Amino acid sequence: MKVLGIESSCDECSAAVVEDGKRILSNVVATQIPFHAVYDGVVPEIASRKHTEWIARVVKEVLETAGEAPDGIDGVAATARPGLLGSLLVGLSFAKAFAWARDLPFIAVDHMLAHLYAANLTENDPDYPFLGLLVSGGHTIICRVDGFDAVTVLGTTIDDAVGEAFDKVSKYYGFGYPGGAYIDRLAVKGDPAAFRFPLPNLHKGEHRYDVSYSGLKTAVINQLEQFRRKDGPRGPAEVTPENIAASFQKTAVDILLRSVFRAAEDTGLTTVVAGGGVAANSYLRSALAERKDLRCIFPPLDLCGDNGAMIAGLGYQYLKRGDRSPLSETASARVRGFKKQYP
Ligand code: ATP
Ligand code: MG
Ligand code: FE
Repeated sequence: MKVLGIESSCDECSAAVVEDGKRILSNVVATQIPFHAVYDGVVPEIASRKHTEWIARVVKEVLETAGEAPDGIDGVAATARPGLLGSLLVGLSFAKAFAWARDLPFIAVDHMLAHLYAANLTENDPDYPFLGLLVSGGHTIICRVDGFDAVTVLGTTIDDAVGEAFDKVSKYYGFGYPGGAYIDRLAVKGDPAAFRFPLPNLHKGEHRYDVSYSGLKTAVINQLEQFRRKDGPRGPAEVTPENIAASFQKTAVDILLRSVFRAAEDTGLTTVVAGGGVAANSYLRSALAERKDLRCIFPPLDLCGDNGAMIAGLGYQYLKRGDRSPLSETASARVRGFKKQYP
């Protein structure tokens, strides 16, 4: 079964054709980053306009590179939530029209469940249950996963998402947008021990697996004055972009790891599946790989960020089960069905 997947929740206009939830026949990701970079963040109005301009061309291109005429498609999936409403509506409406015109089954899917599915596109399906680590620009979720659509949230961020922290630190220091990849690259040449940034003091009661990024973000931004006053008083280490990036990145990832390891110990789960843009982080990947008692599965780098392939792959699982969404299905800014279990 060949599924056309459409993703337009944020600033990536993407479509893919995936066979049987596994084989990527084509995946086209048209990024709007240059249009938003000048503003150091996604401008919702620009995002939805660009999606409107691009969506038909992106779908046409993906069908051509997959070697498929529209008639060769067996089902259509699109992101319905969470994301920017105006952006979501473009891809969702296009997908519904495409399905309706050809009388194809249609399914609306959740973007975060799709990030979790991304690793399945290249790896053998992990055995359920496992621990999910969803780390992206808008979400930070540590969860127990019992099926492709059965997620119980164990921990989440109580303030900023981890990707958001990378983006904000990068914005204040002028490293570039979006910040994650820039900081990752700078960090390679920096000393992660140059600065000691604070770890949040959560982990009690209902916050046992929760994380927090506002304190770290503020602490790193507070170094900025010293960074600007190159001739000013020196701290324990030299305030270089590389040292700031490496120390921030280590702390940001260690915050995640503390919660993941705690959840693994408590639940006895030994497989961790990561997804979302921050899953591309080189320190996160190497630190998890070092834990020989855990099996850690990551999507390939090009499937960590937003893409149509993860939407088509997840959509296939629903369609195979016989699920269909009505054409009255609409977009929503928030996730649905992610229930939190309090420890
Ligand atoms: P969400 O998935 O929560 O709706 P989103 O779709 O905007 O949000 P993604 O596209 O999944 O988020 O991921 C983008 C985020 O990933 C950005 O915050 C970006 O800085 C971050 N990111 C990308 N590469 C890296 C990296 N190598 N290290 C750390 N963060 C990274
Ligand atoms: Mg993006
Ligand atoms: Fe995303």
